Amino acid sequence: MNDHGKLLIVLGDQLDPDHPGLRDYDAGRDRVWMAEVPEESTHVWSHKARIVLFLSAMRHFRDALAARGLTVIYRALDAHPHASLGSALDADLAALAPARVAVAQPGDYRVLRTLRETCARHGIALEVLEDTHFLVPAAAFADWAAGRRHFVMEHFYRWVRQREAILMHGREPAGGRWNFDADNRKAFGREGPGFTPPPRQSAPDAVTREVMALVERRFATHPGALADFDWPVTEADAEAALDDFIEHRLASFGPFQDAMWSGEPWLYHSRISAALNLKLINPRAAIDAAAQAWHQSQAPLASVEGFIRQIAGWREYVRGLCWLGMPEYLERNALGAQAPLPRFYWTGETHYRCLREVIGQTLRYGYAHHIQRLMVTGLFALLLGVEPRAVHAWYLAVYVDAVEWVELPNTLGMSQFADGGWLASKPYVASGKYIQRMSNYCAGCPLDPAKATGARACPFTTLYWDFLERHAARFARHPRVGQQWRNLERFSATERLAIRQAAEALRASLA
Ligand code: FAD
Ligand code: SF4
Repeated sequence: MNDHGKLLIVLGDQLDPDHPGLRDYDAGRDRVWMAEVPEESTHVWSHKARIVLFLSAMRHFRDALAARGLTVIYRALDAHPHASLGSALDADLAALAPARVAVAQPGDYRVLRTLRETCARHGIALEVLEDTHFLVPAAAFADWAAGRRHFVMEHFYRWVRQREAILMHGREPAGGRWNFDADNRKAFGREGPGFTPPPRQSAPDAVTREVMALVERRFATHPGALADFDWPVTEADAEAALDDFIEHRLASFGPFQDAMWSGEPWLYHSRISAALNLKLINPRAAIDAAAQAWHQSQAPLASVEGFIRQIAGWREYVRGLCWLGMPEYLERNALGAQAPLPRFYWTGETHYRCLREVIGQTLRYGYAHHIQRLMVTGLFALLLGVEPRAVHAWYLAVYVDAVEWVELPNTLGMSQFADGGWLASKPYVASGKYIQRMSNYCAGCPLDPAKATGARACPFTTLYWDFLERHAARFARHPRVGQQWRNLERFSATERLAIRQAAEALRASLA
């Protein structure tokens, strides 16, 4: 028995100033352990901005903990020979011989398994702490889910609103309605968004600049650019980014949250997902700030509710389902999709304008908003029939906010319907006309979103009708989407054959 205390492992997405492992921390005996390891940037081919974000935020957090008087054992990327977290921890468990090891619930199942196996090899129990960052503990989610045959996000969301007293007047929702979707989800119209307030930038400081140089050197061939890197990497930066959103963009968030416009990556979005997922800010702070803006008449209820729904609803819901479904969830492929991911997902080099815009912006900033992810890149992969694990690997690699617990259910479940309707009751499928309605992308595209065949056929439209044809047996009687399938009947047999042939030719050209 040694008298070394606890070794608290803090992972790159656990930079919570109120980390649960710090609550009973004994500064005289306990130590914090953090490690930068190549595997976390290479197990998927990570965007350079995603790597910089994690490493820079970790280094800032290390410094903040040290300033609080904590002992931080920090393994910087260039200062050790280990390729993986397991190997770095192995070496340090042998050298440091802690009495206990603790970690907050990791956001990635693979990491949890590695930590358990490594500690077991040393005969040390790994204490997995509840991640108190979230509104709904995993066990409470499991209670909510128990006995339900179907999970419906709207039901979960209302339960969270009541449980957490968010936008409530007693038992009733503020404004008398739970859902303002009908007031939201507008397009900009021909004239476009006009002036949109540019988001506050967090200019790279010396620590971030050093990490940028490191990443350019160690991960030179990785996708993405760093020239525009301005993501928050500290608690103070994250709070300032949230304040900036509440003051300048929240009021228009609701109506235009689904709209897309060429050259306008941010529009009225908050850009706080990465800061939330690294735990630099707390979801409750974001929710309270939005609710306060409504109370002070700075933003309409439809926008405030729309924003809160994303955080208290979708974000908590996908996390709960992810932990309920893992590790089997990762293997799901309900539609039997097998095609490879088109190469242009990694380069943006395609003449399909919508995809060029969204992938181009993704490679430049590591960011695309929800509808760009769901109804452009996600939709194309779904219609094409790309193997879900390949789609998952791409989303996990290219977005700065990507952590498995949130990326995987959004990709496999919501976007690819690979879980067969566990997370979302219907597949999100549409033709190119949806993109035409919600953006100006088609205006600058050589193709025509109304055409499924011929020289100017839009690939979304060709593949949409082909998808309906391929999956008719499964969905034609579906209560929520059956109507889409019934529309197939307006095509003659010859037209249906022509669509199938056009889809096959398209698939062959992209394989
Ligand atoms: P806003 O549009 O301003 O929304 C506010 C906040 O709500 C976000 O910051 C985010 O924390 C939360 N939110 C919104 N939608 C969702 C959702 N569907 N699930 C969970 N939280 C949500 N989000 C991630 O944080 N990480 C991911 O890896 C991720 N991968 C995705 C993959 C696909 C295929 C799809 C369709 C969506 C994915 N999302 C992911 C959800 C969403 O696209 C991003 O949260 C959002 O675009 C982040 O930008 P923002 O901060 O400007 O969000
Ligand atoms: Fe995209 Fe089709 Fe519109 Fe071109 S026509 S921008 S491919 S939806």
